[in-house]
Amino acid sequence: MILRKPFLFSFILALVPGLLPAQPAPQPAQPAVFGYSDFTAESRIEEKFLAVPDAQLAGQHLKILTAEPHLAATPEDRKTAEYVARQFRLAGLETEIVPYRVLMNQPIVVRVEAYDADGKLLMSGPTREHVEGDPFQDDPRVVMPFNGSSGSGDVTGEAVYANYGRREDFDQLAAQHIDLHGKIVIARYGSNFRGVKVYIAEQRGAAGVLLYSDPQDDGYFKGDAYPNGPWRPETGVQRGSVQFLFKYSGDPETPGVASTLDLPDSARIPGDKSGNQPRIISIPLSYHDAAPILQALKGLGVPHGWQGALPFRYHLGPGGVTVRLVSRQDYQRRIIWDVIGKIKGAEFPDEWVIAGNHRDAWVYGAVDPSSGTAAMLESVHGVGALLKQGWRPKRTIVFCSWDAEEEGLIGSTEWVEKHARALDRAVAYFNTDVAVSGPDFSAAAVPSLKQYLRELTRSVPSPQGGTVYDQWKKSRPGNDEQRASNAPPDAGEEVHIGDLGSGSDFTPFLQHAGVPATDISSGGPYGVYHSVFDNYAWYTQNADPHFLYLQEMARVLGLEALRIADADVLPYDYVAYAGAIDSYIAAAKRKALDANLNSLDFGPAQAAAARLDAAAQKARLRQIAPSGDLARLNLALRQAETALLSETGLPNRPWYRHIIYAPGEFTGYAAVVIPGVNEAIDARNPELATQQLTVLVQALDRAARTLNSVQ
Ligand SMILES: [Zn+2]
Repeated sequence: MILRKPFLFSFILALVPGLLPAQPAPQPAQPAVFGYSDFTAESRIEEKFLAVPDAQLAGQHLKILTAEPHLAATPEDRKTAEYVARQFRLAGLETEIVPYRVLMNQPIVVRVEAYDADGKLLMSGPTREHVEGDPFQDDPRVVMPFNGSSGSGDVTGEAVYANYGRREDFDQLAAQHIDLHGKIVIARYGSNFRGVKVYIAEQRGAAGVLLYSDPQDDGYFKGDAYPNGPWRPETGVQRGSVQFLFKYSGDPETPGVASTLDLPDSARIPGDKSGNQPRIISIPLSYHDAAPILQALKGLGVPHGWQGALPFRYHLGPGGVTVRLVSRQDYQRRIIWDVIGKIKGAEFPDEWVIAGNHRDAWVYGAVDPSSGTAAMLESVHGVGALLKQGWRPKRTIVFCSWDAEEEGLIGSTEWVEKHARALDRAVAYFNTDVAVSGPDFSAAAVPSLKQYLRELTRSVPSPQGGTVYDQWKKSRPGNDEQRASNAPPDAGEEVHIGDLGSGSDFTPFLQHAGVPATDISSGGPYGVYHSVFDNYAWYTQNADPHFLYLQEMARVLGLEALRIADADVLPYDYVAYAGAIDSYIAAAKRKALDANLNSLDFGPAQAAAARLDAAAQKARLRQIAPSGDLARLNLALRQAETALLSETGLPNRPWYRHIIYAPGEFTGYAAVVIPGVNEAIDARNPELATQQLTVLVQALDRAARTLNSVQ
C-alpha cells in the first residue's frame, strides 16, 4: 500500500512535538528531543526533509544500480561510482571520487571434482547458477562462484563434514579422533563468518575448504525457493570473502595505513606475508553440488544438530569421497573508488556526521548493497532539497559510497585510515548495507546512540501504519545474537538494539577509530544473499515491490544525520553505556565462575563501571539543561568514546582498539563485548584475563575522567 502525501503530512505534524500547539516550557525541563533545548526550528527542517525521499525515485536508483553486475574494481563498478557522484552533485554536495589501490583477487579457474572410493566421478562443478525464467542470470559478466581472499593451488584430499565450522564443531571432530591434516573440510554456511570457518580449518591442518548453503539454513526447508519464493534455489551459491576480518579489515597489505595511489610498494606488506589472508583454498558451492559429496561420505553418522535438510543421512567422513579443488586466483593491486559527498557545517565544520553504505556487489546486489545505496541517494535528495532552500547544517555532513566492502570492508577502512586524525572529532557514523530485504526494521548501535535511534524512529512513518518505532516494537528481540556476544538480555528495554560486531563498514569507524556508530536495516526472508539471484527481479517480487521500505530507510538514515548535525548538545547516552558495560562485566564474571577461574577479581572493573555511571549521570544533567561552554561539553562527550580505545589494541590483533566491542575471533559477524576479557576467559587464560581486566579499568576510568572534566 502506498501512503498518500496529504495523510503523510498530517501524520508528521502530529509526530513532531515542536509542531503541536505551544506548550508552556517547564523549568528545568527534559527537552522534548534529547540534545535540543528548543526543537521547534529543527522540527520544521525535519518535516521538510521527511517529505522529500521518494519511493519511485528510490526504485529508479535501484534499477539503474543493479542493471549490470558490478564487482569491485570493474568498469561496471566505476559506472555506479559515477552515477552516485552525479546524484550527490545534483543535490549540491561537494563531491569527489576517491581512488585507492588495494590487493584483491579475481578468479581465473575455480573447479571442484569429487570421486568415490572406486575413482568414479561423483560431481564436478561449480554448476552455473540457474533457475526457470530469471532475466538476469545469463549475463556473461556474472563472476563465477569464488571466495575473496582464497588461496590458489590444486589439492586433493578426503572430505570431512564439519557442520557450521564453528570452534565447537571442530572440537567435536577432534573428540572423534578425526585428523584434519590434508583433508578437505566441507562446512555449511551459517552461524559464524565464513572467514572463521576457514581460519579454524587452516589451524587444524586442512588442505582446503568447501563452503555450501544447506537448504535447512536458507533454502526449501525455510519456504519456497526462488523463483516461487524468496529462498535459495538448488544452484544458488553464496560468494563471499574469507579474509580474516577479525584480525583487521581493509587492504591486506596496509593495516593501519591508507592505500592511496601514491603509497609506494615498499610501504606495503606483500599479500602472502600479511596477517589477514588465509593460505589454503576455499570454494563456495550450491547444495546441488554439495549433495553428491555429502551423500557418499562414510564414517560416523553426524551428531545431534549436524543433520541438514538434504534427503539422506549425513556422515562425518573421512572415507567414501575424495575431493580435488583447483583454484587459480588473479591477485593484483586494483583501483577501487569511494564516492564522498560533503556539506560543510556552518558552525562546527570540523565535526563530521558521516552516513555510508557500500556500492560494490558480488553480482547485481539488489539487496546487498544496492537497496542501501538507493535509500541513501534519496536521503541525499532530501538533504539537497533543504540546501536549495538556504539551509546549512551546524556540523559537516558527509555521505559515503564505499567500494570493495565485499572483499573485506576495504573502501571504508582505507578512508578511515586516511582520515584518522579528523575522525577524532567525527560525531557519528551511520551505516546501512543490506538495507531492505523485507518489512522488519532492526538496528545495532553503540549504547550511547541506542536511545537516539529509538527516539528518531518515532518521527518516521512506517508503510505498515504508525511509526517505524511502533512496528519495530512489535518485533521480537534477537536473542541468538545476544547469546553469541556474551551480553545478557537487556531487561525492560522498549525495543532491542543489537551490538556492533562486524561484517560491514561500521567496523573501522567504531572498532579502529572510536567513532560512535549505528547500523540499520529492514529485513525479511532472504535466501539469495551473494548469489546471482540477488537482483532486481527477486527484489521487486519478494522484498519491496513498491519501494516503500527504500523510502522508509532513506528517511531514517537521513534523519540520523540531520538531527545530530544540528543538535545543541550531542545526544550521547553515557548512562546507558555505563549500564551496558556493568552488565557485560557481570556476565563475564558468571562465565569465569562457570569455567572455574575463581581467582579472577572483577571488583575493580565493577567499581570502575560505577565511577563511569556516576560521571555519566552528572554529564546527563548538563546535557538536559545545557549552560556554559557547550563546545567544551560536546568535545568531552565525544572524547569519552575515544577514551574506550587502547593504544596497544586487543591481544593478537592490535588493529582492533576498542575495549568494549570487537568482532569475535571465532564468530566474526557477532560482537564480542569486553573482548579482551571474554576471549581470555574462553581461552582459560587467567593471567591474560587479569591483565585485560586492568586494561578495561583503565579505559573506563579514562572515559569517566573525560566526562568529569566539564563538570
Ligand atoms: Zn553488503
